[in-house]
Amino acid sequence: PTDSRKKERDNRFAKLTPEDVAHFRSICSVLSAESDEIEAFNTDWMRKYRGQARLVLKPKSTADVSEILKYCNSRSLAVVPQGGNTGLVGGSVPVYDEIVISMNAINSIRSFDPVSGILICDAGVVLETADNYLADQGHIFPLDLGAKGSCHIGGNVATNAGGLRLLRYGSLHGTVLGVEAVLPDGTILDDLSTLRKNNTGYDLKQLFIGSEGTIGIITAVSIICPSRPSAQNVAFFAVNTFEKVQEAFIRAKRELGEILSAFELMDDTSQRCVAQVTGKKRPLEGEETKFYVLVETSGSNKEHDDEKLEKYLMASMEDETIADGVLAQDETQARNLWSWREGIPEVCGHWGGVYKYDVSIPLKELYSLVEDVKARLIEHGLLGEDKPVVDVLGFGHIGDGNLHLNVPVRSYDRCVEEALEPFIYEWIEKRSGSISAEHGLGVAKREYVQYSRGETALGVMRSLKNHFDPVRPASPIPTQHHIAHAL
Ligand code: FAD
Repeated sequence: PTDSRKKERDNRFAKLTPEDVAHFRSICSVLSAESDEIEAFNTDWMRKYRGQARLVLKPKSTADVSEILKYCNSRSLAVVPQGGNTGLVGGSVPVYDEIVISMNAINSIRSFDPVSGILICDAGVVLETADNYLADQGHIFPLDLGAKGSCHIGGNVATNAGGLRLLRYGSLHGTVLGVEAVLPDGTILDDLSTLRKNNTGYDLKQLFIGSEGTIGIITAVSIICPSRPSAQNVAFFAVNTFEKVQEAFIRAKRELGEILSAFELMDDTSQRCVAQVTGKKRPLEGEETKFYVLVETSGSNKEHDDEKLEKYLMASMEDETIADGVLAQDETQARNLWSWREGIPEVCGHWGGVYKYDVSIPLKELYSLVEDVKARLIEHGLLGEDKPVVDVLGFGHIGDGNLHLNVPVRSYDRCVEEALEPFIYEWIEKRSGSISAEHGLGVAKREYVQYSRGETALGVMRSLKNHFDPVRPASPIPTQHHIAHAL
């Protein structure tokens, strides 16, 4: 792991003592430095960032979290909240020796109202568990992503995860109705509303959505969950140019309209990587094209949806918007087609490491970034068989203007990092894009926020952070969270 941007540890934070550990043991179960299990809490999903936490706390309730933060605040002990530890920007693991507060054991579904479709659950509920529970009730969680088997609802809300179906169900800023959170001084904020309309003052829950643990720890969430679609179709098709991908998208919005639930882009490099690492046969047998698209529809009338999607594919093939296509005939085939999209993040790490960029760019220029980065790495002599960089690939959520640029490497390398950054951020700034579309800032992007946000906006963020978690020379920052470094 190369956490190259580490600065000096802030010595205003206290060092853990045996008395502290004894106190925490009286609140909840703990993992101490002697345990082999602590390593997993110190290392992120990409094995890129590594902390030196000597203590992991496993609270079982909101009251436990409150006790913990109150004590940490009084002792100036730094903490980092951790959900499923699937975050991709190094925000879920300590930078130094912060105490990890794991939300794994706060994992009950509190209630579900079948009339309104509102679910209230603890922050530590795994996304897939929540969705399976909702499936039994005829509902669906309005967020889906490749890490669903491990990520937590609390982590999803803390990162404002976007995922595969944002196109259909919108962002968590619209679906989350309330949060319960513990503030850095231990105060419990109960804003667990189940109201769709509530204009009584500021909408406080919105501050926590995407706050990455910087202003408090989310302990529960209420969220509106739509009815589960009874008919789902998946099509996978080949497209020659990025212009044609855009044409296919415009047509999908026009002709599939209300049943369109995903429109995902994958470039040929990403598909070759999946084929190479998994050894699976690619879905389309014809000639390779530069791009592939996965379209999903979700509706309530299978015949109607089949007809619409078939018509869409026929028309698109007739006028050569798409070069080739396949329609899943059953659920197994649909899952297989999805695996060609969902499997990309996992295979990118196969060669040793991966540099990941999660960016929003005006749609027209979305793919040019991949081409420009590839050209730059070739120019710098960094890409090739005996070079550090394996390849450069792009995939993402076309419907949301969100590109995932991935640079798989044989090992993390300072020269590669220097060729990529700030080049990529400057490129994004020129197009008024966002350097952080759906994964957050974490530690990976803390030095680069100014490429997407102006000084006034950053000033407002700083003062909000300081309101919740004051930085005063006489009274050290009670919790250490990564965004604080960025701001
Ligand atoms: P963690 O990784 O544990 O934490 C993430 C951040 O939130 C950290 O800063 C942490 O301190 C903070 N945090 C966690 N829990 C809490 C809490 N209860 N209260 C306050 N702060 C908290 N993301 C997308 O948006 N879209 C995708 O399509 C997508 N696909 C992915 C696919 C794969 C294979 C992987 C590995 C990741 C993917 N991600 C995606 C990124 C990641 O899964 C999401 O960011 C997810 O929401 C993180 O949830 P988590 O529980 O794992 O949080």
